[in-house]
Formats: sequence, structure tokens, C-alpha cells
Amino acid sequence: GFKCGIVGLPNVGKSTLFNALTQTAAAQAANYPFCTIEPNVGEVAVPEPRLVKLAQIAGSANVIPARMSFVDIAGLVKGASQGEGLGNQFLANIREVDAVVYVLRCFEDDDVTHVAGKVDPMADFETVETELMLADLDSLEKRRANLEKKAKTGDKEAKESLVLIDLALAELREGRPARKAEVPADQMRPWRMLQLLTSKPVLFVANVDEDSAAAGNAHSRAVEARAAQEGAACVVISARIESELAMLDADERGEYLAELGLEEPGLNRLIHAGYQLLDLRTYFTAGPKEARAWTIRSGWTAPRAAGVIHGDFERGFIRAETIAFDDYVAHGGESGAREAGKLRQEGKDYVVQDGDVLLFKFNV
Ligand code: GDP
Repeated sequence: GFKCGIVGLPNVGKSTLFNALTQTAAAQAANYPFCTIEPNVGEVAVPEPRLVKLAQIAGSANVIPARMSFVDIAGLVKGASQGEGLGNQFLANIREVDAVVYVLRCFEDDDVTHVAGKVDPMADFETVETELMLADLDSLEKRRANLEKKAKTGDKEAKESLVLIDLALAELREGRPARKAEVPADQMRPWRMLQLLTSKPVLFVANVDEDSAAAGNAHSRAVEARAAQEGAACVVISARIESELAMLDADERGEYLAELGLEEPGLNRLIHAGYQLLDLRTYFTAGPKEARAWTIRSGWTAPRAAGVIHGDFERGFIRAETIAFDDYVAHGGESGAREAGKLRQEGKDYVVQDGDVLLFKFNV
């Protein structure tokens, strides 16, 4: 599944947010496969109203939502790239995630110490991102020397990596994150495999005080402006409120949200933002046993999408029987859609669309 890493300076509300996210997920989806895998890794069910509808039509005994993981990455302090704080452990954690959620402190509270002495979310952001850029510079310079030797012996893969590494280094040496580099579309896979800390897409969370949850405050507006500049999303959340919401049942939660002027919990907004950030799409499988949502990236072909279910589905792929979600609903399910000519036989070049209901045919 896809993973978002939660980063930020100490005392900005990361753990509060992480605990609220995982508790809300557990409460909302008592019978969903939810779990805290490790103390700092939580899986949340992706809210998906279409899945419920599908399950009703297909008469599915089980409903299994797509999942997304959040990792609470502690230990980022000034000097982390040089091994301060939790240093290396922190860096290893963050390399594995698909996207980075910057939690920025936008609440004033004299009882909660700020490591830099005052609340200044943009300064905090610079501090954190500088550490990540330094760590990338360091690791790339180390890797480059080796690759250069290999490339000189004619190693094609090494040559290609070298081009990508130099692309990243050019940005980093100018003080810009690697995500600013213009990477050719066909190089995205090897580019991601470099596992740079600053090439990952970013999302900002402005953690505001309880009173600013709906309208935001001056700090969160500064974060929003910066996010807009970056072309990144910004979610204004009060981690405190989220942790209170996590303890309520569904009815109480609805009332409390209305009282606060909020439409849905921050968890949902964060997941939606994560989905958009990672350019994720959902497809479904539906039958009497279960209705299930699966997560893929935009542009994935049918075999690759099948591989999310099982490697054998990808290797032995023959075709995908495909019904668009709207057709599935309009014709009352699979057999109705088939009779109406809305079931398509799609081959290996088919690009799976968001909402497709798929049945894979494959050789074993
Ligand atoms: P972390 O070090 O970034 O994980 O921060 P924590 O989640 O442990 O929070 C540090 C302190 O800030 C705790 O005492 C929290 O209760 C407090 N805190 C977190 N979010 C808020 C908030 O929205 N408002 C206020 N007033 N305090 C908060």
C-alpha cells in the first residue's frame, strides 16, 4: 500500500495527529482490517462511498476498503542530517514513504515549548527541508563516485542513474529540493528508486488551535500561501480537535463537527489530499464474497493493476472484464451491465480508469 510519512520539528503535534488518525480510523471501521503495524505506523481505511454502493448491489458479505499508511517519523531536529537526534533511523524511515506530510505548528500555547523559541511555521519548514536536502546531497555525492567508475566501464544502468543523480544534484546545490528537477516521464520509476528524501511529493498540514479549526489563522494562511507557491496541497487541521473527535461515536461526531463548522474529520481531508498528491486511482472488484477497493497510480495498465491483487494476476494476465462504476450501478450489477453491452473485454494495454469494476482473467 501507499505510505505517507509525517515529519516536523518536535512539539508541533505529530504524535497527536498520528494517534487521532489511527484512532478515528479504528473507530469508524470497527470491522475493517485496521491495525497499528508498529508503534509509529498506522493503516487507515480510505473513505469510499462508491464501495458501499457496490457491495449492496453485488450482495457482498464483506466490504474491504483500500488502505493507506501513515508513519510518524520522529527525531527530526536541526542537525539530523549530521546524525543529531535520531538521525539515521529517522532518515531510513523517511526513505521508504511515497509522500511527505509536513506538520507545521500554527498554534500558540505557552505551555508547549517550541524548539526554536517562537511559533513560525515557515521558518520550521525551512529548517526541516534543509536537513532533508543536506541528507540527499550527502547520500548522492557518496553514490556518485561509485557509479562514475561503473559508468566508465560502459555499464548502461550506471550511466542512466548518473544522469538522474546529476539532475538531482544540480537542484540541491542551488538549495532547491530534488522534486524541482524536471525528470523525463519514462524515467520516473528509476527516479523514485533513488529514494531521495526531497524528491517525494509534499503535503502541508497546518496544525491550528481549536478556535481556528474552521477558519484558520494568520500562521496557517502563511502556510497556505507557501503551499500554493509550491503547487502543494495544504490541509488546515487542529490535531487537538481530531483527537477529541476520535473518541466520539458517529452521531456525536457529526454534531461536534457541525458545531465547529466542519464538514468532515481532518482525517478524511488528509486522506483525500494524499490521494491527489500521489495521483492515485481506485478500482473495484465485487462479488458475493467481498467488494473491495484497490489503489493504483494514474496511468497504470490492466496487468499492472492486477498485480496489486497478486503477482500471478499480472504475470498470467489475459484480459480484464471491465464495467465502469456508473454502468454497474445503472444496470443493477454485473449481469445487467453485460446484457446492456456495458461489459468490455480489455487487453494488456488498457489504462485502468478510476471507478472501474474489474474481473481479471489469467493463466496460472
Ligand atoms: P510531536 O512532538 O510533534 O509529536 O508533538 P505532540 O503531538 O507530542 O504535541 C506536543 C504538545 O503539543 C502536546 O502537549 C500536545 O497536546 C500539544 N498540541 C498538539 N496539537 C495541539 C493543538 O492543536 N493545540 C494545542 N494547544 N496544543 C497542541
